[in-house]
Amino acid sequence: MRAVCWHGKQDVRVDTVPDPEIVQKGDVIVKVALTCICGSDLHLYNGYVPTMKKGDILGHEFVGEIVAACPGVTHFRVGDRVIVPFPISCGACWYCKHELWSLCDNTNPNSWMMEHIYGDTGGGIFGYSHLYGGYAGGQAEYVRVPFADVGLEKIPDGIPYEQVVLLTDIMPTGYQAAVYCNINPGDTVAVWGCGPVGLLAMKSAKLLGAERVIGIDRFPDRLQMAHSQCQAEVLNYEEVDVAEQLQNMTGGRGPDSCIDAVGLEARGTGIEDVYDLVKQTLRLETDRASALRQLVRACRKGGTLSISGVYSGFIDKFPMGAIFAKGLTVRGGQAHVHKYLPHLVKLVAEQQIDPSSIITHRMSLEDAPAGYRTFLKKQDSCIKIALTPEH
Ligand code: NAD
Ligand code: ZN
Repeated sequence: MRAVCWHGKQDVRVDTVPDPEIVQKGDVIVKVALTCICGSDLHLYNGYVPTMKKGDILGHEFVGEIVAACPGVTHFRVGDRVIVPFPISCGACWYCKHELWSLCDNTNPNSWMMEHIYGDTGGGIFGYSHLYGGYAGGQAEYVRVPFADVGLEKIPDGIPYEQVVLLTDIMPTGYQAAVYCNINPGDTVAVWGCGPVGLLAMKSAKLLGAERVIGIDRFPDRLQMAHSQCQAEVLNYEEVDVAEQLQNMTGGRGPDSCIDAVGLEARGTGIEDVYDLVKQTLRLETDRASALRQLVRACRKGGTLSISGVYSGFIDKFPMGAIFAKGLTVRGGQAHVHKYLPHLVKLVAEQQIDPSSIITHRMSLEDAPAGYRTFLKKQDSCIKIALTPEH
């Protein structure tokens, strides 16, 4: 089959690789109908995650049809159209039983790596390096999906793949970011990053009752989409002092909640142009943490910082003193997709949300290398790219 493979920093290629096979109880094989490139894929693309190997298949946002199922799989059969959450969860461990699906104890065969770095482990993720289990990803014609009975969600008849593909990751991620804000009527929620995650976080904040949402970015077309699709007031962080402006806009108090939808691509003084890991480490303080520090500065006392952007390693000079003094709540982490999926599918079916409205580019899987370049540079007003395998 054809699959998008990682070959090095900013080097992805569409290769011919062996088809996946069923290897353990609970597996199904999904024929991918649609798959997206995520901001999280950019961290791998940029070489920020050193646990990738040449030839690893990328992609954790994909939907498709089951073409083979292990006899033990009971909830699904061949022919079912399914949504596949990006975290892989066993459904049986303490974390899964407490709806902390992305922290599953049993699906990361390389959990020792994460334990070594962070002292604890997260679950497996499709196409997200050996740190997250080394699973082959879904930017491919076919993919092996373990624990199918636990994770998958059937796509209701009549709903096109495009309307649900973002339910695999960024819609639940944006939704969780808003849920973590504990929004009360009248609240103002500020969102750093008007990329796909930020936009869906803003839509979710509105859905959950926020009176005002404020989107922060530097790309005019992204700010424009935040304004037109999410009724957001917008700030260009290259033009204003964001924290100061946010306080002015909220009677001097600051937003009730602040969402980080930026993560490792945070732009301070040019992290995008720094690919050397050593240089990155030296520049951590000035670049990577810039958006995070603004969140802390801007948020009102007693407010919440909801961090959906992906961070790794150590983010130095995180202003712990200010977090304590202002009595802030900090929440974050990989989205527990399984928890929100049934509700979000219902909202799509009832036409209360249409996450596909942020897809700006539709390309063939074969064009993935050009897609990654366009998405990285945010060229051509690119917000979200969907890839279709040709089969
Ligand atoms: P993206 O790269 O398209 O968007 C990031 C946006 O942040 C860009 O528009 C960029 O201009 C903006 N930005 C950069 N620096 C900024 C700053 N200092 N202030 C304000 N905005 C700034 O990516 P995306 O697909 O929207 O993903 C965003 C983040 O969410 C990534 O880190 C991704 O890894 C993460 N993510 C997390 C989860 C999860 O489960 N927690 C799931 C999916 C994605
Ligand atoms: Zn993603």
